[in-house]
Amino acid sequence: MTDGFHLVIDALKHNDIDTIFGLVGIPITDLARLAQAEGMRFIGFRHEQHAGNAAAIAGYITQKPGICLTVSAPGFLNGLTALANATTNCFPMILISGSSEREIVDLQQGDYEEMDQLNAAKPYAKASYRINKAEDIGIGIARAIRAAVSGRPGGVYLDLPAQLLAQSLDAEHGKRSLVKVVDPVPRQIPAPDSIQRALDVLKGAKKPLILLGKGAAYAQADADIRAFVENSGIPYLPMSMAKGLLPDNHPQSASAARSYVLAEADVVVLIGARLNWLLSHGKGKTWGAVPKKFIQIDISPTEIDSNVAIEAPLIGDIGSCVAALLKGIADNGHAKPDAAWTGAIAERKDKNMSKMAQTLAASPSPMNFHSALRSIRDILKTRPDINVVNEGANTLDYARSIIDMYEPRKRFDSGTWGIMGIGMGYAIGAAVITGKPVVAIEGDSAFGFSGMELETICRYDLPVVTIIFNNNGVYKGTDPNLNPNVPNDVPVTSFVKGARYDKMIEAFGGIGYNVTTPEELTAALNEAIASGKPSLINAVIDPNAGTESGRLTNLNPQSAAGKK
Ligand code: ADP
Repeated sequence: MTDGFHLVIDALKHNDIDTIFGLVGIPITDLARLAQAEGMRFIGFRHEQHAGNAAAIAGYITQKPGICLTVSAPGFLNGLTALANATTNCFPMILISGSSEREIVDLQQGDYEEMDQLNAAKPYAKASYRINKAEDIGIGIARAIRAAVSGRPGGVYLDLPAQLLAQSLDAEHGKRSLVKVVDPVPRQIPAPDSIQRALDVLKGAKKPLILLGKGAAYAQADADIRAFVENSGIPYLPMSMAKGLLPDNHPQSASAARSYVLAEADVVVLIGARLNWLLSHGKGKTWGAVPKKFIQIDISPTEIDSNVAIEAPLIGDIGSCVAALLKGIADNGHAKPDAAWTGAIAERKDKNMSKMAQTLAASPSPMNFHSALRSIRDILKTRPDINVVNEGANTLDYARSIIDMYEPRKRFDSGTWGIMGIGMGYAIGAAVITGKPVVAIEGDSAFGFSGMELETICRYDLPVVTIIFNNNGVYKGTDPNLNPNVPNDVPVTSFVKGARYDKMIEAFGGIGYNVTTPEELTAALNEAIASGKPSLINAVIDPNAGTESGRLTNLNPQSAAGKK
């Protein structure tokens, strides 16, 4: 005989899934134990949201769904934030949660951790399923895997009632019920006429631009994307998680002339990037007065025309679409963009880069974002294999433009939502899945959401170096308390002044550093990376450094209304 517990593990292993991120409790503790006993890795967290984030980033890196396992109701809800974030970012993951007894939940008779989890998950997941019979576990897991990775990837919820896990089944019958998903990420070949249309639009371009999004990084079509950029000679801009798909010091990178190229380009080729808020919805001041024609490569047909009209939609997987364009420009001949266009970009780049070099060269005391990031940048330049996690407001904004990336799928950040709290979850997921070191560059506020996972990092002895940009508060640490009636209350954006985050990791056996100058930061980071040990660097920066909401000031209602 076999049972639901064994069949879940067998079904995952049958599909080459070897790692589960989760947090144990009723009714899934034995499932986690069994996973470990059967040779899978179970990485146990302190909060489900971070286990879910780890699973999601593992999915992004590998194109295989990351698995997050939680208990019912509250554990499930904690994981749901990560599931929703994965769906929003198009990362494949499966949130598997144990659930209470259906007949009690449905009659609302007050079960332990009672909740209608399946329906709660639906609006936030790409697909949601419940398995009720042990003999359906094989097909249920197969369905969840295919839903997570095929087409536009996303988060899938899989509900496992406690009763299901205990159900027994004849072992032979159980074995036969397992399903191996064949071709889970099928190629989707673009229609030839859509390729021709795109090539025609490209031919008419005077000032073309390629925009690479994290969909392009996810697709693992690195060589063809690089060849398309280089053979076409078109300048390109990477979105933040597409940095490194081509090295950031590539001569065709237009990052240092971003505003100029967005405003001036006449034909924009979007490759795995959505025209959402991160691209000002494809319109307005950012996009300037020059009329635009868009060519958009995406696997999701409904992404097209989401914000502005798309002249040439290319629906298919990025690998196939880019390969077809590459062949098209080789067959038809392709004139490289005008020197007037590339020359004007080069000029802007030079000017902006020397301005930035000056800012970075300054060494103010106390240290500020720029001088601290200069130290980190110089070290990471020599270690392109290191994974970088980055979140915060100012810490995210500055690090994104200052820290260059040289390899694909090495930068993981706040993503489509601009979410805070992904830090330690992504860091753990990336370290576990790649076996490579991680440097997490964290604002002190952003770090607070997942800080307890330092214990997880230490428990698994992961090579994660966390750097806290500590300016004593959210945005900065110098705001006033606005209520004179409670003079001892603190400002809404304040934290404990002079907090020593480095002491936190020491509590779990990790190595803490407290640094106040770029030189100390350089020494600490070099030592921490070389040791391969869980480390945390508390980088004390000027409490006055930082602007409200980083570069998103315009999204604050008061500022948007011109009142601030
Ligand atoms: P960014 O935030 O970097 O601009 P987005 O997450 O907005 O990137 O966009 C990623 C896009 O890539 C999504 O619209 C998604 O449908 C698409 N995508 C993801 N994987 C593939 C793939 N393999 N082939 C084609 N499109 C893909």
